[in-house]
Amino acid sequence: MNLYTRCTSCGNHFNLKIKGKDRVEIKMKYGDSIASQCSHCHTQQSTPIKKIKAETNQLIISIGFIIGAVAFLSTFFFIGKYLALGKAVYFIYGGLTSLPFLLWRIEEKSVRSFNSTNVK
Ligand SMILES: [Zn+2]
Repeated sequence: MNLYTRCTSCGNHFNLKIKGKDRVEIKMKYGDSIASQCSHCHTQQSTPIKKIKAETNQLIISIGFIIGAVAFLSTFFFIGKYLALGKAVYFIYGGLTSLPFLLWRIEEKSVRSFNSTNVK
């Protein structure tokens, strides 16, 4: 999950280098607003907690999909060898190919919970 906000100067979205599962946690850690710097125009600004939004981290999901694709392809190419391993192969194969979907669902869930939690 990435946290981002909109720049008050140039209007572009930029990622924040802070971590937290929701706005309540960020407020406890950083207070009502956080100091940030736009990655586009480099303007220093103070971002109110309620202006922080979450989005899915594409990198994590991409890595998951690569692992899934490699698992799928290696099973396809080495199916003969794998079959000798018996039923265990189905568990390994199933686990690896469902990993990207699991990661995606976890990401989606944390993003939705972050964006739905507001601070007063
Ligand atoms: Zn900017």
